[in-house]
Amino acid sequence: MKTLETIKKELKEYDGKNIRIMEVCGTHTSSIFKNGIRSLISPRIKLISGPGCPVCVTASSYIDRLVEYSLKDNHCVLTFGDMMKVKGSELTLTESKAMGGNVKILYSPLGAVKVSMKNPDTQFVFAAVGFETTIPIYALLIEEIIKNNIKNLRIMTSLKTIIPAISYICTNEKNIDAFLCPGHVSVIIGSSVYSEMALKYRKPFVIGGFEGGHIIAAIYEIVRQISNNECNMKNMYQSAVTAEGNEKAKALIDKYFEAADDYWRGIGIIEGSGLKLRTEYKDFDAGSTSSEDVDVTPAGCKCADVILGRITPQECPLFGKACSPLNAVGACMVSSEGACGIWYRNCEV
Ligand code: SF4
Repeated sequence: MKTLETIKKELKEYDGKNIRIMEVCGTHTSSIFKNGIRSLISPRIKLISGPGCPVCVTASSYIDRLVEYSLKDNHCVLTFGDMMKVKGSELTLTESKAMGGNVKILYSPLGAVKVSMKNPDTQFVFAAVGFETTIPIYALLIEEIIKNNIKNLRIMTSLKTIIPAISYICTNEKNIDAFLCPGHVSVIIGSSVYSEMALKYRKPFVIGGFEGGHIIAAIYEIVRQISNNECNMKNMYQSAVTAEGNEKAKALIDKYFEAADDYWRGIGIIEGSGLKLRTEYKDFDAGSTSSEDVDVTPAGCKCADVILGRITPQECPLFGKACSPLNAVGACMVSSEGACGIWYRNCEV
């Protein structure tokens, strides 16, 4: 078995054909910067940020519905902090709050149960945004609402699934050679689904952990496969990811949600890429996203090109000039998982 030092040396000296690897999730993007991975590998290996930031792909019309809700008498929007600065067609939730809107930041969806039980005269809506990693928690929230017979709390979902998004990229974008699969989502959905993807799209799909050594090893495996004309799924994060994933979490998701077409900010409708509350739970739905959603992209913002791996954040003309975390133009600069925000915090501007 090769040592990490040998692997690093080989990656640094790699002089084969150019390889473009998309890391799907923002946690990998952050770790790539934190560990200086780009400085350890050949410039012929490009690491491209992908679509794994749920806040970044939420349609502006969804934000508009939250803003509208927050401004109604006796209504309140409960949300994670990441959502506060994402612009709808006109306002962010921060701006709505400044105008007197009722918006509260929570750190856990289950906190919504306490808040709504304490304030029975207020109608609450929880902004449930996320991928498979957080969706089981929203399912638990519905369970708690039912168990406690809470009548003043509903959820407004913008829930996305990652495989249809990766399939979309494989079908429509020709510049990605391989995928570093999202670690956290893979814990839930399992590794076997990527075997089908590798076969179908003839690209390596490698699941890696988040430590620097994990990422280097995953990149090495991708380079090895491409150099040998292989295209397989390889699970290099077996301490957390099994072939079938987390069956309990998947069953919980399946109990309350079903697949539907959904709208991705800047991209449009991706078939089967959203999860909606099942018909029997529609009473808990306060206006979730659907393929009917629309989006207003701020002038000059290239978020869609960033999310699809066509450009790096630095290649957006507004990066670090008109657009920064303090004055974000697009959603990718706002969220802690957004590529532009991560690049801004780690690059010299
Ligand atoms: Fe959009 Fe700002 Fe990123 Fe440009 S730098 S793509 S404006 S979020």
